[in-house]
Amino acid sequence: MLNTVYYWCILKYGVKGTPPSFHVDDEFFYITKSEKGRFLHEENKIVIKRDTITESIKTLIHEWQHYLQPKDQFETLYNLGYTKETHPFEVVAELIAERDWQECFHWTTLSTNKQTKKGT
Ligand SMILES: [Zn+2]
Repeated sequence: MLNTVYYWCILKYGVKGTPPSFHVDDEFFYITKSEKGRFLHEENKIVIKRDTITESIKTLIHEWQHYLQPKDQFETLYNLGYTKETHPFEVVAELIAERDWQECFHWTTLSTNKQTKKGT
């Protein structure tokens, strides 16, 4: 299911060079328990915590936006005093996640059902 969400993100938002790798962090190796997810610029890796499908979709879409956003500007704006709540890149990522998660949910549900039918 989450792999399908990942492919939906590629189709919907596109890639910037190499597609990011994707990892569910059950051990909280990359993220803290209070975080939903994180995009690791250096490793080009999206990490999310295990959650409901709805939350997972929202988080993956959110982190995908960070993957597409320019890294240097991300840091510059944080250095100017923006916080996690006010940083324009965070606000945009959250708006896109809220706008698109249902579309992604329907698409992945349809795709997953088709695959199941093929298998029976
Ligand atoms: Zn974010």
